[in-house]
Amino acid sequence: MRLLRVLVVLLPVAASLAVISACGGGSSGSGGHELSAVATTTHAGDLLRNVGGDRVDVRTLLGSEADPHGYEPRPSDVAAISKASLVVKSGGDLDEWLDELIETAGGEAETLTLIDSVRTISGDDGDVDPHWWQDPRNAVLAARAIEDALVRLDPDGRTTYERNAATYVERLRRLDRGIAACMRKVPDEKRKLVTTHDALAYFANRYDVEIVGAIVPSLSTQAQPSARDVDELVHQIRSEDVEAIFPETALNPKLEGAISREAGASVGDALWADSLGPEGSDGETYVEAMASNTAALVEGMAAGEESCRPRV
Ligand SMILES: [Zn+2]
Repeated sequence: MRLLRVLVVLLPVAASLAVISACGGGSSGSGGHELSAVATTTHAGDLLRNVGGDRVDVRTLLGSEADPHGYEPRPSDVAAISKASLVVKSGGDLDEWLDELIETAGGEAETLTLIDSVRTISGDDGDVDPHWWQDPRNAVLAARAIEDALVRLDPDGRTTYERNAATYVERLRRLDRGIAACMRKVPDEKRKLVTTHDALAYFANRYDVEIVGAIVPSLSTQAQPSARDVDELVHQIRSEDVEAIFPETALNPKLEGAISREAGASVGDALWADSLGPEGSDGETYVEAMASNTAALVEGMAAGEESCRPRV
């Protein structure tokens, strides 16, 4: 107990020293943090940061606007994992590449796979859809799983993690209500979605949107549409009177342009699907990205006659 008290007294000193050494450009390690953690995807990293707060040094392997389906790990990823106490994985076939990386890295890190704590749905072929975060209720479950892991690994931080999680969960619930209210502004018959790949099924389920199709008709971005797939999609967009199709920020929108012209639909604003955006963008955090996606969908589906952005 005495040691604990000494630590509490010394912590602010350690923190200020860390700031000084960071300014000097030196110092590796977790620099004043209690725990060093690695997240695979930008979404997982953002949830982890929100619950971990100042106690957790979070390194996210994927950069903003990177495509997790096609990620090539770097040697620095191995180094980060070998020093971490916790590795947070999104799960499903999205970041399977992590398993090999963890094996190479060795180290003592506990792995938390978020998809194991959320409610999943399956694609047409029966495979589990890995894009669980597109339903904010799943983000709540994931945040709770992160909270449990952090409390287990750093029991002294319990109060902080519980407080952070409670604040964040409240924000996620507000986001969920806000998205629902915005999507209701789009008339039922216009709530139809065509995206680049099958990334928004959870969103569609939650907010009563019909998925008409995807340019890449797959749960992964790594598949290629055949000429017949494209013809069929153009036909569906026409016959279902789809107003807009939505590209993704991380992928080249070339096909979307061609298909929309042929099908007589417009191209909506790009969605933050599998990765968040860089600092200063409107997809910088999970909550921001979901709010921006909602605004883009309302605008595109309602052909500019409605606009709504959830207040988060
Ligand atoms: Zn995806």
